[in-house]
Amino acid sequence: MFTNDRFKRNHKINNRKKKYRYLLSAGLAVVLALSSCGPGYSGGDRKNRLKEETSAAGNQEEYSRTDFVMDTVFQAKIYGTEDLTEDLLELLSRLEKKELSWRISDSEIARVNQDSQSGTATEISRDFARWTAASLDLAQKSEGAFDPTIGLLTNLWNIEGENPVVPAESEIRKVLDQCGWNKVHLDETALTISLDDGCTLDFGASGKGIGCDAAAAFLEGSRRVTGAVVSIGGSNLVYGSKPDGEAWKVAIQDPRGKTGELMGYISLEGTNYVSTSGDYEKYFEQDGKRYHHILDPHTGYPARSGLISVTVICGSGLLSDGLSTACFVLGKEKALALLESYGAEGILVDENKNVVTTGGIRNRYTPISSDYKLTDDELTK
Ligand code: ADP
Ligand code: MG
Repeated sequence: MFTNDRFKRNHKINNRKKKYRYLLSAGLAVVLALSSCGPGYSGGDRKNRLKEETSAAGNQEEYSRTDFVMDTVFQAKIYGTEDLTEDLLELLSRLEKKELSWRISDSEIARVNQDSQSGTATEISRDFARWTAASLDLAQKSEGAFDPTIGLLTNLWNIEGENPVVPAESEIRKVLDQCGWNKVHLDETALTISLDDGCTLDFGASGKGIGCDAAAAFLEGSRRVTGAVVSIGGSNLVYGSKPDGEAWKVAIQDPRGKTGELMGYISLEGTNYVSTSGDYEKYFEQDGKRYHHILDPHTGYPARSGLISVTVICGSGLLSDGLSTACFVLGKEKALALLESYGAEGILVDENKNVVTTGGIRNRYTPISSDYKLTDDELTK
């Protein structure tokens, strides 16, 4: 795509900086809301509420950290008697470099993609096999709305690049021919994987959720952590319990508001994963039309399903992340059916600012912005 390496390097550096700035404020919004939202939510109450929370925490400490990992903002807040935020960051950075990043040439996913060009099967770890199997299952159940092989299409659109433009129809067709989740051949017993000629694997839509799963497994290994909130871009883990015994509160960005403006929040008890996909996160405009980063693998163009934001809540990071992308592509009715088949909950927002929730989360969702109308047409449960 690029003609010389220097351009490639500069391009990447500029792009990274730009994205970091943008996402930092988006990430902060989530954590801010976690400590400040509540039934009596108001800016003025915030200081008092924080004070109460701290004193109720007893000998528990609160450790916080904001950094950059997996091409996005990482935020962690850990409650307990040991600061594990640095270890957590290292763990995620290792996961990215050793396994998930297809830009790092000796990562596990890059090896799979390289080997497939020469027609060889690659030996993979048990974790990698598990992530691939879960991704293929989701691809099948979503009828290809979620497709872990559309990396080449993402590259073609280059939406996060400096000057993205709509690609030619013929180029989209050509790339789509190489994609397709049924071109992935996974042997879960032999722990090998091979891909049909030209096909590549990419965990772009589920990698941050995989990171949240890894974070939870890590925290489970420490008796000194009683609760935590971990955000990796739009994927969040709420773990254990808050020292003050209150529910975790996870904010949902107003998809048409400024970064940090909230549409509502969800109250959750215990460990849960929450992921949001929206058309406002990464996009460019051409001829007055918005082209965003969630692509419909059937058309090769950004998904236009009538939805502008989808939040999924469930017991797996990979699935909450993957399902939010899949549901965004599928549109309201099919999305609600898919969520039901996975026993997951969701909050879906359409372009007319109507909000629909699954039955299990309805009483845990509190609207903040009056621009959005909570509709009662629950199609499931
Ligand atoms: P974000 O990366 O902002 O968290 P998502 O989790 O929705 O958003 O994932 C979007 C990313 O996943 C895109 O940047 C692209 O790399 C990839 N992607 C886009 N559309 C799809 C799709 N239909 N299926 C699988 N991966 C996708
Ligand atoms: Mg996703």
